[in-house]
Amino acid sequence: MPGYFDHNATTPLHPVAREAWLKASERHWHNPSGLYREAAETKHRLEEARERLGKLLECEPQRIVFTSGATEANNAVLRMLAAKLPGDSTVLTCCMEHPSVQVPLRAAFGKRVREVPPRPDTSLDWEAFTTALQTQRPALATFMAANNECGTLLPWLQIGIACRDAGVRFHCDATQWIGKMPGIQLGQCCDYITGSAHKFGGPKGVGFLVLSSEDEALGLLTGGPQEEGRRAGTENYPSIEAMVTVLEHLMSRLESMSAQVELREAFEKQINLSIPGTKIVGQGTQRLWNTSMLILPRHDHRKWLARLSQQGFAVSTGSACSAGHDGASQVLQAIGATQEEMKRVLRISGGWETTEEEWSGLTAAMVRVRDSLDG
Ligand code: PMP
Repeated sequence: MPGYFDHNATTPLHPVAREAWLKASERHWHNPSGLYREAAETKHRLEEARERLGKLLECEPQRIVFTSGATEANNAVLRMLAAKLPGDSTVLTCCMEHPSVQVPLRAAFGKRVREVPPRPDTSLDWEAFTTALQTQRPALATFMAANNECGTLLPWLQIGIACRDAGVRFHCDATQWIGKMPGIQLGQCCDYITGSAHKFGGPKGVGFLVLSSEDEALGLLTGGPQEEGRRAGTENYPSIEAMVTVLEHLMSRLESMSAQVELREAFEKQINLSIPGTKIVGQGTQRLWNTSMLILPRHDHRKWLARLSQQGFAVSTGSACSAGHDGASQVLQAIGATQEEMKRVLRISGGWETTEEEWSGLTAAMVRVRDSLDG
């Protein structure tokens, strides 16, 4: 049975999001900045969507700016902070951040970026983090909530509390966390949060940035008074409505998460048995329930990917959004994998709707591919 295992890259549009999008597009397509009744109605619904998202993220709705996705949100917040913080400010981060954080961070802060190295199992070295927080005295810390390549979870709640105690601003790229994990207190312990709808069943091209206060000026896109003057451009109300509606839907069903963890665990157990020599990156550390990053014992990952694709299974080599050297995986570079290992990596990421048959079908297909490649 074929299956889609690249949910960390993007997810199919959820029926709940589709329905919300169609309804909003048919009835409330007017520009929310207009001064007539229909536009006022769209504006009213847009602000309701902001309030509903604020409730889910546990933050004041006025702190939310709708964007085109997490890349825009990450770029916007880091550039804004670079302009606002004193010129000698340092930033604490980790070398496994998504390129949409790493690249603007380097561009804006250059040599003032300080990296906390991960442990060999990809988890955050808490001691190294707290030591750096005390000794480096950064003005900003930026750490993702969940890693897009290996699924490792970072202790954002504890990071947020430690940053608050130290008087350090905290930005959290929660793109892979939101919609998969409970959002408890995200808005309360992070000064800045970024997220993207297409990672959790919403439409592509819409996301959000939570700022530390409602009067913070963003200034990335100028030329219009939308979003309280913080981001110019007509708000994409139908997509915003679809994003918030599907997130509400998912958040109310998080209890089925434990069943999904079991499916991924069973998959990894089977792979360890059936394809001996496979390494699972971050195995044993806290990870997202849907993600498995495998270093296979032999054969180039492009061959694995092509043959799995022929059998109807979509997986990733894990390097699609990597800005690492030679396009290699950032996580693998961070944990010191060899160049050779980097060519044998596959990222498997299931979704809420992925069935037991699809997970076991993937295992069977991988065994067939291994046999055919071994020749
Ligand atoms: N941050 C993380 C952790 C991601 O996984 C992604 C998408 N791969 C992004 C940011 C960028 O999201 P978008 O493509 O929606 O701009």
